Amino acid sequence: MIEAHKIRLHPTSEQKGYFAKTAGTTRFGWNWALAEWNRQYEAGEKPSALKLKKQFLEIRREHFPWTWEVTKNASDQPFLDLAKAFTAFFEGLGNGKKTGRPKFKSKKKSKASFYLANDQLELGDHRIWIPKLGWVNMAENLRFKGKVTGARITKTADWWFASITVELEDPPPPPPTPAVGIDVGLNRLATLSTGEGFENQRFLKTAQARLRQANKRLHRRKKGSANREKARRQVARLHYQITCLRDDVLHKLTTQLANGYGMVGMEDLNLKGLLKNRSLAHSFSDAALGKLLTLLTSKVEQRGGQVIKVGRFFPSSKSCHYCGWKWEDMELSDRVFLCQNPICASDQFPQDRDHNAALNILYEALRLIGLIDQVDLGTG
Ligand SMILES: [Zn+2]
Repeated sequence: MIEAHKIRLHPTSEQKGYFAKTAGTTRFGWNWALAEWNRQYEAGEKPSALKLKKQFLEIRREHFPWTWEVTKNASDQPFLDLAKAFTAFFEGLGNGKKTGRPKFKSKKKSKASFYLANDQLELGDHRIWIPKLGWVNMAENLRFKGKVTGARITKTADWWFASITVELEDPPPPPPTPAVGIDVGLNRLATLSTGEGFENQRFLKTAQARLRQANKRLHRRKKGSANREKARRQVARLHYQITCLRDDVLHKLTTQLANGYGMVGMEDLNLKGLLKNRSLAHSFSDAALGKLLTLLTSKVEQRGGQVIKVGRFFPSSKSCHYCGWKWEDMELSDRVFLCQNPICASDQFPQDRDHNAALNILYEALRLIGLIDQVDLGTG
């Protein structure tokens, strides 16, 4: 399995100059190859990336000596990229999925980027070594363990990044079906890693709204009055009703989970932290949260299973379950998780926030009990 980690670089201004030059050389190679491809195609020949590359190398020393000043990948990767782009284009024509014909890259409009094959880079502690340049500082170390297959250096706004691809040493086993992760949420009572959701019951919401009204009424009544006593009794009755309704929901949910799964991963909830959030306090009291965990643990254990508690600081909502990329400034109101890692298979593919969190909780639980030990999904 191939994973990618996009790391921010901290180049010196001299190193930035090298990056720009390498990206420029890469763009030049692409444009040269595309022009030559078009020319040969129009002349009725059958252009191929390999042939074009050979042609380029033959005239390179004489015509483009400056291409030797940067990594050799700047002069060979564009040919491979162009071949891939043409394959995608022709396949698209065949199966109706339209992929644009490869275009020339302009300095202004195209994204500055270049590729480094695995023999053209080396990783150190918070740094990456690049041929004819040396060590460049990196903001973090590579998250994955395995064989580094290559890296793409790209520029976004004024920042440079390295997307390093890694062939994992030991692919993580697919999650065994009797294991599940649960995310307990604001909008939905629980979301499972299977994608299944348990909504907060409408009748519970209605009862809670009535309780809030009754509470307001109670505070308006004069202390010691008969009306106040009446209001107090109504509040107590509603409290009891809500507890019964909620217990019913919790029992149904935990029984279903315990019957279906031998291993359940769940967040070790930070009750105080959660209750600071008023909207969560509405749908879920601390008692209910504690009860969910207690009921679940006892039912699962009765059946010989196990509940794994995942640390409360584990960033389950903010990490992409697929590649571990972290959305640092994700807000509570962001209901959809969008991975920004360009090499991630779920790049830009909208994932339900709670479903993604439940999957992260499942993987973290599996990692905690040693079923996955090679993949660090961003807990560090
Ligand atoms: Zn991702």
